[in-house]
Amino acid sequence: MFRPQSVIQESGGTAVQCKSCKSVQKLKCHAEINIHPPGGIENLTRPTVWAFPQLRVCSDCGFTEFVLGEPELQRLRDICSTEPSKDSLAPTFDVRGSEHPR
Ligand SMILES: [Zn+2]
Repeated sequence: MFRPQSVIQESGGTAVQCKSCKSVQKLKCHAEINIHPPGGIENLTRPTVWAFPQLRVCSDCGFTEFVLGEPELQRLRDICSTEPSKDSLAPTFDVRGSEHPR
């Protein structure tokens, strides 16, 4: 849920410009983000990394910045440095359902 907290005045009162549109209007927000490894749809079964960063959102153009913490960054490095296993490419849901005809 988007809950802007305040317009950020950084660096001792000097506003930092948006890297995209140069606006100084930024919002500080919290987020939960589920990061998937890069690649195609086959990567949707690979492990993901949950992160809860503080966002800097430009209220004029929407450009957003955040920094991952070291634990989340290390987990992302680990996931991205390994190849997906063949087992992870197979669908994992059970198609038999709860009723078993006998
Ligand atoms: Zn902007």
